[in-house]
Amino acid sequence: MHELSIAQNIFDLVRENVNGNARVKNINMKLGEISGVVSESLEFCFEVITKGTELENAVLKIEKIPVTAKCNECNLEFNVENLFFLCPECGSPDVKILTGTEMQVTEIEIDD
Ligand SMILES: [Zn+2]
Repeated sequence: MHELSIAQNIFDLVRENVNGNARVKNINMKLGEISGVVSESLEFCFEVITKGTELENAVLKIEKIPVTAKCNECNLEFNVENLFFLCPECGSPDVKILTGTEMQVTEIEIDD
């Protein structure tokens, strides 16, 4: 399962970056709507992986990033709804994706 290996990567990343005694409260991450990752599934996998470890009480907080694109013809920036990648202004299919593919941990919050 895709999400399981991603959850494992996040787990490793946090352990590498945090002092062993620190209590991690939240792990904030950005997840684009077309990143190919299902956030609910990722949260579930993360819970499974951290169970019984020092990260058991850490919460994976996922910020979903909507898909936006820019038209290469008329330079309009627009929100992409339902994976409809046509410029709403001029109808051009020549668009560049600006956001929506993100998948990154942005912050690790420590409880002190
Ligand atoms: Zn356009």
